[in-house]
Amino acid sequence: MTVMGVSGRMGQMLVRMIAQTEGAELSGAVERPGHAWVGQDLGQMMGGVASGVRVTDDVAAALDASEVVIDFTRPAVSVALAQQAARAGVAHVIGTTGFAPEELAAIAQAGQSGRIMRAGNMSLGVNLLVTLTRQVAAALGEDFDIEVVEAHHRHKVDAPSGTALMLGEAAAQGRGVALDQVADRGRDGITGARRVGDIGFHAIRGGDFIGEHDVIFAGPGERIALRHVASDRALFARGAIRAAFWLKDQPAGEYSMLDVLGLRKA
Ligand code: NAD
Repeated sequence: MTVMGVSGRMGQMLVRMIAQTEGAELSGAVERPGHAWVGQDLGQMMGGVASGVRVTDDVAAALDASEVVIDFTRPAVSVALAQQAARAGVAHVIGTTGFAPEELAAIAQAGQSGRIMRAGNMSLGVNLLVTLTRQVAAALGEDFDIEVVEAHHRHKVDAPSGTALMLGEAAAQGRGVALDQVADRGRDGITGARRVGDIGFHAIRGGDFIGEHDVIFAGPGERIALRHVASDRALFARGAIRAAFWLKDQPAGEYSMLDVLGLRKA
């Protein structure tokens, strides 16, 4: 397995979790050109003993030596990697979030010839929450207002989170509407009364929150709240490694964590 963005919060967690996973082997460690870790021993850079794995900025060489690449970086990096991995016949697990619609289209295009698993959240709990959100939204009428509230650490660069968007998408699917027609992001000022059917998004940023998501269904006289709290980043790394094992045996296509976990039809 190759880890892209190996010095990042998720990159380092992946290296640790791969070392603890039977049958998984780190064959490549990639960082961006010019990064201080490039050319250095990975283990030493992570504050431990020499590992014999050297950090590289040569993506093609790393892909050559791998069956699968796990990528938690930035949208533009993941789009380019999707195309390169598809050409190289290497399965690509994408955890990056914050893609623009045209970037998602480029990934879908790469998924016609390559094997891609892309998920804004790799945890079992969140993917179960996605399924529950769709079911609850389908069961309740529009007199229940849907709000998605999320909290993340101060370094996160995109809002709402990829997970919040997955949850909003699931709620919209449950209601049989297109999310971009009903999404209302981060209200501010004299916004007027809430439009019936809107799905609201709110992002809290601060401290060291790993990731918390609430989907609130607020109806007349009662409220339902579905909540997920991530308390350890290892959760996402374990999910990504599980996805990597699953993906290398699939035919070309773009998959999600619902496919990996067998929740697609739930
Ligand atoms: P981070 O900033 O700590 O790490 C990103 C790493 O990518 C950095 O080390 C950076 O140098 C590296 N990078 C940038 N350009 C590169 C290039 N061209 N080649 C190789 N490496 C490059 O960020 P993070 O907290 O690890 O999060 C990364 C992404 O993963 C974000 O989009 C975040 O939202 C997402 N994320 C997803 C999940 C999930 O379950 N899907 C969980 C956590 C984080």
